[in-house]
Amino acid sequence: MSERAPIPFHRSSIGREEIDEVVATLESGWLTTGPRADRFEREFRAYADAPQAVAVNSCTAALHLALVSLGIGPGDEVITTPLTFCATVNTILHAGATPLLADVGPDGNIDPESIRQALTARTRAVVPVHLAGLPCAMDEIWRLAGAHGLKVIEDAAHAAGARYRGRPIGAACSEPRSDAAAFSFYATKNLTAGEGGMLTTGNAEIARRARSLTLHGISRDAWSRRGRRASWRYEVVEPGFKYNLSDLHAAIGLHQLRKLESFIERRAELARLYGELLGDVDEIETPRDAAGRRHTWHLYMVRLRLEALEIDRAEFVERLAERGVGSGVHFIPIPLHPAYRSLAGCAPERCPRALEMYPRLVSLPMYPGLRNDEVERVAAEVKAVVRSARKAVTVPVGV
Ligand SMILES: *Cc1c(COP(=O)(O)O)cnc(C)c1O
Repeated sequence: MSERAPIPFHRSSIGREEIDEVVATLESGWLTTGPRADRFEREFRAYADAPQAVAVNSCTAALHLALVSLGIGPGDEVITTPLTFCATVNTILHAGATPLLADVGPDGNIDPESIRQALTARTRAVVPVHLAGLPCAMDEIWRLAGAHGLKVIEDAAHAAGARYRGRPIGAACSEPRSDAAAFSFYATKNLTAGEGGMLTTGNAEIARRARSLTLHGISRDAWSRRGRRASWRYEVVEPGFKYNLSDLHAAIGLHQLRKLESFIERRAELARLYGELLGDVDEIETPRDAAGRRHTWHLYMVRLRLEALEIDRAEFVERLAERGVGSGVHFIPIPLHPAYRSLAGCAPERCPRALEMYPRLVSLPMYPGLRNDEVERVAAEVKAVVRSARKAVTVPVGV
């Protein structure tokens, strides 16, 4: 058991700027959606090089709005990955559509070939997830989407600041492109607003509809009603949702966005350091970058070589915790949750590779405030756990 201070799985990187902006927001008297949400939306749109952005209160909301605004509903099938957070599948169900799982490739992202195999005559859209912040093979996905008339909605919950062939994820300025991307600013994500999300799109009509649905389907939001032509009159044009981002949250997001590039650079440094320290541990596979893609390193997901260890992942996580190192698992595959058991499109047979990968996944601490000496300590504790659990090498008889 280590005597030193524990290293948590996550620490947020909130500075004086975020705190001062929240205080200024409170003092301004305008707490809900207003000038700061507006500014955050504009700055994020510029950062992601996207023609349209709609600030919302979660990535879940952004995914749901994207599906509904694209007209996806009952009778439609949407293909996604099994190695994701439940929100990806829940929003497909909430839109009234049917989720179909494809399988993952060696990098843990959705495998384009398996998307092709999952296609049916009813398939209308695909929702790729940039797992851990590593962009999916978008060229292949766009090619498939083009050939089969599919909408592409990127679950970019881990991918604010990621780039694919030099273009930011969420950009929709030139072809080929996705129809929409959904970002998360949840407390533990690589850009946080405490809670929050963003929908980006190149389609002005989708943005207009999503913006209206964000606030009950009202044709104008409270901010514009407060303007010079303020009026008590508003119209509900279709029954919408309550998905708007408050200025209190936007106050945090504004400053996190300004720091995002330096956060990602620091995460990449930490990933390199982890790679150097753990690269030669036979019982651990470290994650790799891919050419032409900018990884955000939102998560640092290693894989255990269970065949070389006497313990399972649960015991590994437990022993690491005893040594003062927090870790996580991303994600429990969709077919393993009771909620989806009755859905044929979410059956375990559809994704054997994700189910094989799952028992080996462990996410190690990764955040801009993590110090180099802490990474060294995490690596040392990982090595100590591995040493304590290494399988004895059985030498064949006669050798
Ligand atoms: C966190 C997460 C979401 C949901 O984000 P919220 O902002 O909490 O709604 C969706 N998809 C993935 C892959 C996530 O990790």
